[in-house]
Amino acid sequence: MAEKTFKYVILGGGVSAGYAAREFAKQGVKPGELAIISKEGVAPYERPALSKAYLFPESPARLPGFHVCVGSGGERLLPEWYAQKGIALILNTEIVKADLASKTLISAAGETFNYHFLIIATGSSVIRLTDFGVQGADAKNIYYLREIDDADKLVEAIQVKKNGKVVIVGGGYIGLELSAVMKLNNLDVNMVYPEPWCMPRLFTAGIAAFYEGYYANKGIKIIKGTVAVGFTADANGEVKEVKLKDGRVLEADIVVVGVGGRPLTTLFKGQVEEEKGGIKTDSFFKTSVPHVYAVGDVATFPMKIYNEMRRVEHVDHARKSAEHAVKAIFASTEGKSIEEYDYLPFFYSRSFNLSWQFYGDNVGDTVLFGDNSPTSENPKFGSYWIKDGKVVGAFLESGTPEENKAIAKVARVQPPVESLDLLAKDGLTFACKI
Ligand code: FAD
Repeated sequence: MAEKTFKYVILGGGVSAGYAAREFAKQGVKPGELAIISKEGVAPYERPALSKAYLFPESPARLPGFHVCVGSGGERLLPEWYAQKGIALILNTEIVKADLASKTLISAAGETFNYHFLIIATGSSVIRLTDFGVQGADAKNIYYLREIDDADKLVEAIQVKKNGKVVIVGGGYIGLELSAVMKLNNLDVNMVYPEPWCMPRLFTAGIAAFYEGYYANKGIKIIKGTVAVGFTADANGEVKEVKLKDGRVLEADIVVVGVGGRPLTTLFKGQVEEEKGGIKTDSFFKTSVPHVYAVGDVATFPMKIYNEMRRVEHVDHARKSAEHAVKAIFASTEGKSIEEYDYLPFFYSRSFNLSWQFYGDNVGDTVLFGDNSPTSENPKFGSYWIKDGKVVGAFLESGTPEENKAIAKVARVQPPVESLDLLAKDGLTFACKI
């Protein structure tokens, strides 16, 4: 069987891989030295587009429009770019075995890839209801969303089931973005989640109340405090009903499940140190195995600002960690050093005409400010998180670029606050003054 050798191999062809490739080019990688091995069939793209513009009924985003690095305002890396740089894009190739001791990767088709440096950028896979043995969860038209192939199946289902009924299982990012986009496609939408409010890992009750109200006004029906426990299918095996734990039954032509992800680390089990469900790295994304780095969703790295090991499943970190790792690799080979990764958590989401950003840590007391009425014509509101007398996190809906910059600065600077009441009254002005 074929055997290929590269100085650098990036395993995974997602967001991190694309941004790492750009940094390799900046650092002067030579033709033939770098390969990206991906199970997907397309060059790295901005994954967040899949739950947003990719599913729009009008002028949907399509490749090559959203290849990396457009998501952060950079040059779009088309497949030709990789060819020009002599970077091998090895697509439709799943690695099924990794041997870090012998520095080899083996694909499902039996090819062997040897490397000197490896960057693990395998990202996450979705958690499936079939993993928990939910009855009937293998029916047709029950979808998950991680890769472009999944999005294409959804696009087809939306066309086939025009004006049909959708049940969205899960109230996180995917649940909220998918409910909105399904509604835009004129489908009847029910959302189901067990928690008392949506996005409970980040949103406070006050923040969530706005989005739930806004979605309800758009005609999306939200069912909280219960879960899907089973599905019934018709004679063709297509899903027809979703059975809820509280006894209710919802009709469904399409079901989309967004109940979380898992970092893809199984290939490396027992070969590399892990922590908090991810591959443990230092501040340069170096793992416990020499010449092996891990970036993006799979890396558990020192979050310097909070003095804690953390894993982050967001696109901004995927981009930045990838660039940092490549800089560190080049610096190490030149006997130089670079600064430690000093990441400020940044998450965002968009749906309908809404757009929010969050920076920092969501711990401690919270203060809500601004106009968070779901019926307001121009809602603009936010929240601060306060710990040990300092503001450590900030959230803003519908901020201008300058205002978003201001809340990022607050989360980074962590200014002291005298009174929570005063902070609530000052609202965004507090951030803009820092
Ligand atoms: P990925 O981009 O997932 O790339 C991993 C790659 O590795 C994939 O190409 C995969 O096929 C490949 N791979 C895995 N295993 C193998 C193997 N064994 N062999 C070969 N190839 C392999 N974050 C935000 O901050 N904001 C958002 O709005 C947002 N929206 C999102 C919407 C969706 C639908 C999804 C799925 C994620 C979203 N995210 C968002 C999260 C963000 O996209 C991820 O954090 C980011 O993509 C992680 O980058 P990564 O390179 O680590 O992994």
